[in-house]
Amino acid sequence: MTASPLPVEPFDLVIFGGTGDLAVRKLLPALYHRFVDGQIPASSRIIGIAREGLDDDGYRASLRKALQEGGGNAAKIEAFLGQVGYRSLDARKDDGWDAFAALIGEQPEHIRVFYLSTSPELFVDICNRLGSYGLNKGRARVVLEKPIGRDLASANQINDAVGHVFEESQTFRIDHYLGKETVQNLLALRFGNVLFEPLWNAEHIDHVQITVAETLGVGQRSAYYDRAGALRDMVQNHILQLLCMVAMEPPSSLQPDAVRDEKLKVLRSLKPIDESNAAQLTVRGQYRAGAAEGQSVPGYLDELASGKSNTETFVALKAEIANWRWAGVPFYLRTGKRLPERVSEIAVVFKAVPHSIFDPAAGVLAQNRLVLRLQPDEDIKLWLTIKHPGPGGLRLRHVPLDMSFAEAFGVQQPDAYERLLLDVVRGNPTLFMRRDEVEAAWQWADPILAAWADSGETPRPYTSGTWGPSAAVALIERDGRTWNEESE
Ligand code: NAP
Repeated sequence: MTASPLPVEPFDLVIFGGTGDLAVRKLLPALYHRFVDGQIPASSRIIGIAREGLDDDGYRASLRKALQEGGGNAAKIEAFLGQVGYRSLDARKDDGWDAFAALIGEQPEHIRVFYLSTSPELFVDICNRLGSYGLNKGRARVVLEKPIGRDLASANQINDAVGHVFEESQTFRIDHYLGKETVQNLLALRFGNVLFEPLWNAEHIDHVQITVAETLGVGQRSAYYDRAGALRDMVQNHILQLLCMVAMEPPSSLQPDAVRDEKLKVLRSLKPIDESNAAQLTVRGQYRAGAAEGQSVPGYLDELASGKSNTETFVALKAEIANWRWAGVPFYLRTGKRLPERVSEIAVVFKAVPHSIFDPAAGVLAQNRLVLRLQPDEDIKLWLTIKHPGPGGLRLRHVPLDMSFAEAFGVQQPDAYERLLLDVVRGNPTLFMRRDEVEAAWQWADPILAAWADSGETPRPYTSGTWGPSAAVALIERDGRTWNEESE
């Protein structure tokens, strides 16, 4: 049942930050898998860039190790590494840029992708140099990793500066959640079936939950994280993008702007949360020492050099979309570090049946739920009520209809970066954020951050290995609802 992957035009892909965690752990393995599937043309080059004084062989040696640890085939890894090179460059200095420009100029007909997998403070320097060495011309594209700014003003600064060098059509703001198989499947499910769309509104949907839970703490990333916090790191980008995919109107096509126009309308319809209602609609938390995966772990403050911080490592909030389709339907969003499980999921909870014809002894009539899981494994389950089989009276059971067909099709679930990297090469920005989307997301997030800062309150403590502060449970339970638990 497997179909051959589509061919890809020759390209050169330059990864700024080529020795970094994201490049080595995610981007290069994703490219290796596409290579194995025959989607990296023989003349394509992948070039890592960082300041470290490595040569091609030194870079390849570090990648070889990472790819072998990832279970790659030795002969295929060598063939892949034959297309990988390295240049030592400082984004902030001109040394070496002439030679780098000449290297890229060797294959002028190739698509050029510049992937900025560095801290965002370097985005402007890198783009300016790409522009002044003429590398933004022709079929050039630039990929920007998150975070794009820490508020609307700083996002605008980055977008303005990048916009001086690259057209919006050349700019790919990546959100890897959108490359997940489950998110694609949400589109197929909503717009490829007649069953769901008539029910996809306030009349039939009780509420929606989006959870992105991590078991890890901040670890090595504490310097970055302490300046960001959970709202900036997860909610403003990934969680809002997922919310858009659930809530958007049917686009007229899958053309990039058709989809992004609909997502933008959702972002602009989010009801403001500010100092007037943040205390009722949001909960901030910060983890304390506790346990994670059976090990005792330190608290957030113990991991910081300063030992003090008001940064939230957990947030739960109740969002609402002020339009005809969604008026009155809460979207409960929560994310945090050092939670009991690593799980990312969207739960669409339908309304209860209006009247039960069953004897109470038959069991509780649970509400239908469509649960889309993005992590750790991707799957989709529709929870339905059925009759318990066999004689013995009419007893009701709530069971999941499993709609994950990857196994049935014999397909390995690709990493989101595999799809997104090839979308960049193909010039398809459907799954990337347009500038106005980033702005609209910050316009909604900024007043929440301001309300927290002005309140003078500190985040509520929670023990590592628990589901956040008890106020997060109260946030949903005072509405007569509970956070989704995957059980019958
Ligand atoms: P990282 O491990 O700290 O890597 C940073 C890279 O940038 C290194 O290769 C570093 O090498 C290079 N670099 C630093 N200064 C440079 C300069 N002046 N000129 C050229 N290269 C320079 O960071 P990361 O975790 O890979 O993250 C990269 C970006 O992706 C960040 O914005 C992060 O927020 C984002 N991101 C990361 C992840 C993840 O899972 N890691 C996930 C989502 C988003 P040298 O020091 O040798 O120059």
